[in-house]
Amino acid sequence: MEAGTLYICPTPIGNLDDITLRVLNILKEVDLIAAEDTRHTLRLLNHFQIKKPMTSYHEHNIREKGPYLIQQLLEGKSIALVSDAGMPGISDPGQDLIRLAIEEGIELVGLPGPSAALLALVISGLPTEKFAFEGFLPSKSTDRKKALEGIRDERRTLIFYESPHRITSSLQDILDILGDRQASLSRELTKHYEETIRGGLSELLSISQDRNLKGEMVLVVSGAEEAEPEEVDIKNELRKLVEGGMSRKEAVKELVRVRGVPRNQVYQESLDLD
Ligand code: SAM
Repeated sequence: MEAGTLYICPTPIGNLDDITLRVLNILKEVDLIAAEDTRHTLRLLNHFQIKKPMTSYHEHNIREKGPYLIQQLLEGKSIALVSDAGMPGISDPGQDLIRLAIEEGIELVGLPGPSAALLALVISGLPTEKFAFEGFLPSKSTDRKKALEGIRDERRTLIFYESPHRITSSLQDILDILGDRQASLSRELTKHYEETIRGGLSELLSISQDRNLKGEMVLVVSGAEEAEPEEVDIKNELRKLVEGGMSRKEAVKELVRVRGVPRNQVYQESLDLD
């Protein structure tokens, strides 16, 4: 018996009109839809008057459901994989099933479509030639800072997914570790209250503190500067701040904030101050 095909189907991230004609056709044609949340996907199917058997495929049942779906494919069924929103496999379930399908030699067809990361990057106005998708930063500040230390020297534009509950503390940590870089925060993309705020990280932080931003959001941050700031300037500027009455710690913080120089570099320079 000929094995079926696994179709990777992106779905809208807000505006239902963003579904593609090809995805609609595939959803109508397949034998089974594997959905991250079947109730969520049912609303999408109802909107487009599609009736199809569905089964759940989410982070808590991947181990059992993966082999089950592969078995269905090997028995000749065609399956469409969808997540709640956007591209399956991008901060959503999908990668394990895709790997299993490849291992089994099952035909795999991916369809293009919405993904919040790429849309936010393109409208950020920041360089798009090279970029790094970082997904969600860790929720605990200590882990988050450690993760940020690891990408401090990354030159490519950085893309982060973030939740409204954590955006203010994340912005604070990103500012502290990466310095006051240019950034762009897009929330509720393609939805009624869509908004993109562009500016320095310190500006975004104060807006986030003032406005208690809500909804789904993507933060895009420019990569590390190519030219390292001159050593002598940092030291001189630190000295001036200290002579002006600041403690060394305060002077380091101020310089990171004002000049956008990586914190560690300023801190190292502060150790050599007379
Ligand atoms: N697979 C999805 C994709 O391709 O974009 C991402 C799924 S991930 C679980 C959900 C996160 O994506 C949200 O927390 C938010 O960071 C981002 N996101 C999804 N939809 C969005 C939207 N309409 N506007 C802004 N960010 C969005």
